[in-house]
Amino acid sequence: MVNSSSDFANVYAKFQAPISRRYDCGTKCAPLNNGIPVCCDYERTVPVADEGEWELLKSRTDLWSVYTPKGKTEEKEFSGLADGCQSIVCKGAKLCERDNRTIACRAFPFFPYFTVEKELFGLGYYWGFEGLCWVISNLTIVEKPFVDEMIAASEYLFARDADELATYITFSATMRGVFTKWNRKIPLLGRDGQLYWVLPNSGGKIVPATTAEFETKLAPFGKAQKEAA
Ligand code: SF4
Ligand code: SF4
Repeated sequence: MVNSSSDFANVYAKFQAPISRRYDCGTKCAPLNNGIPVCCDYERTVPVADEGEWELLKSRTDLWSVYTPKGKTEEKEFSGLADGCQSIVCKGAKLCERDNRTIACRAFPFFPYFTVEKELFGLGYYWGFEGLCWVISNLTIVEKPFVDEMIAASEYLFARDADELATYITFSATMRGVFTKWNRKIPLLGRDGQLYWVLPNSGGKIVPATTAEFETKLAPFGKAQKEAA
């Protein structure tokens, strides 16, 4: 089973909370990225929509169009997409339509993080954007309604799409492997609203973190960082 366009419409209706009502994070990262918010810059990341999501978007807006891969690397990358999935680009940040953002737009920089026991614990982030995405360096600004809505959206979609579920279970394991290689702790936002670390080389052990630790030990904004935290 996969998610239909009406399933995605349900998720769009319920996944609306901003990461933070206090900060417009695009004003933080865009000045260091030629004036374009990093997650809206298709030179850096291209959203991929499932078949049902793409059907929904085409039915409600002309904001999006099919993205044509550039060069052999991208052709290879996008040729591996699951059946019906489509890489797409919007008209740009100045023409953004809030109600017609993809799930990927709404969730960025986060993905649903699964424990070794395959339980949906909370939110991890796309570590390739450390130093570029201001939110990743300031995780304490993320508000609980955002976490709640993203978890609910993820559970709704996973209940109907086992492949999507498997993708994020695998991706969480990949994150543990990468951070273990770097000998770094993974910062996590728990679905309970608390802060956590996943310890490296621990079989995925999760321990509580403090706000003070998250305010001082996250990857700094403005420069790539892979050293031990
Ligand atoms: S989520 Fe990150 S990359 Fe996107 S606008 Fe906010 S700070 Fe920039
Ligand atoms: S739809 Fe909006 S949030 Fe999504 S990539 Fe385009 S400008 Fe950014």
